[in-house]
Amino acid sequence: MFQPHPFHWVPAGGQRHATRTRLESGEVGTALCGESITPDRSEIAWFWATCGSCNVAAHELAGVPMPSRWAES
Ligand SMILES: [Zn+2]
Repeated sequence: MFQPHPFHWVPAGGQRHATRTRLESGEVGTALCGESITPDRSEIAWFWATCGSCNVAAHELAGVPMPSRWAES
């Protein structure tokens, strides 16, 4: 399967976190921000806000500069 970026977005605990490895339902993993998370596969989970720390780390992994509005905060 084509993998454009070396991480996955995982909704957990009210935020969308990013992980280096794909997590199955009920599996505990560590997000890029350092939080221990278990994936939430409910429909609304994908509408949660993105974890700021994971977003920064994911941009670094992908080699994509952060938009200035994130860098300033
Ligand atoms: Zn996070």
